Amino acid sequence: MSDKFFHPVSGMDMPRFAGIATFMRLPHVPLDHPRLKDVQIGLVGLPWDGGTSNRPGPRHGPRQLRDFSTMIRAEHPVSRLRPFEAANCADLGDVGPNPVDGPDTLARFETFFADLKSRKIRPLSGGGDHLCTLPVLRGIARDEPLGLIHFDSHTDLFPAYFGGKTLTHGNPFRNAVEEGLLDPKRMVQVGIRGTQYDSVDRDFAKAHGIRIITIEEFFARGIPDVMAEAREIVGTKPAYLSYDIDFVDPSIAPGTGTPEWGGPNAYEAMQVVRECQGMNIVGADLVEVSPPVDPSGGTAWLGVSLMFEILCVMVTAL
Ligand code: MN
Ligand code: MN
Repeated sequence: MSDKFFHPVSGMDMPRFAGIATFMRLPHVPLDHPRLKDVQIGLVGLPWDGGTSNRPGPRHGPRQLRDFSTMIRAEHPVSRLRPFEAANCADLGDVGPNPVDGPDTLARFETFFADLKSRKIRPLSGGGDHLCTLPVLRGIARDEPLGLIHFDSHTDLFPAYFGGKTLTHGNPFRNAVEEGLLDPKRMVQVGIRGTQYDSVDRDFAKAHGIRIITIEEFFARGIPDVMAEAREIVGTKPAYLSYDIDFVDPSIAPGTGTPEWGGPNAYEAMQVVRECQGMNIVGADLVEVSPPVDPSGGTAWLGVSLMFEILCVMVTAL
């Protein structure tokens, strides 16, 4: 049980539109804070989109996510879990990127997450583009490869763009597999769709035993069935959950750089996370929310609602 310090500001004490916006109105606990040693789950902003191949903007994601996260209340509507009382959660702030130097930013992120790992703090990050996931995994999965449950309309298993070794938001999971950070036999990618240049990503998945559940299979079989299979593949050993907001149909979540039609609705978007209960999620992220393409904030509101769902899975796994 968490102590009162870690409880969010309640809308009963301070209206939700007022006050400084931290993630879910949690206390801000930077790395030099005396209560850092008591944090179990750290919410982190990753304001960087240097891996974006098309429309940039997710660098502005964490600020809009924090703003809309003040709408989150204390109790889960179905399980009645009260995650902020079940575990010590805090907003650890943003990891500052170097906006003009990708390799430097990746190193900064990796150092930060390796530090959290050494302190036994499990991270839940708000992005940022999907390349942000790679330095998180470098920070927390060096000793033991993790399983992966990945919601996205893209596999992000592509080779480098324009040759060379370029890191982009289209290849974090290919690199993570090649670096031994993920166990491909315990990887599931859900929601894959959209036109492609070729099939090199699917060839990579096939060669390594990564399970891809296309959106066609997802809708044909239904959520309980595909997620039961996902739980079986990911197993109960430590796993990472990565949620690209472009998993959701762009009619609902237009605020993202690489939208693909024919995705799940908002209810289905939340339901897949609820079906992750039982997985041992030791770290997670919600990425690719791009405020410049959806200044209304609707995409960010769904994004933080998904972060709340993810948090409830992480708290249960503690
Ligand atoms: Mn995507
Ligand atoms: Mn992605």
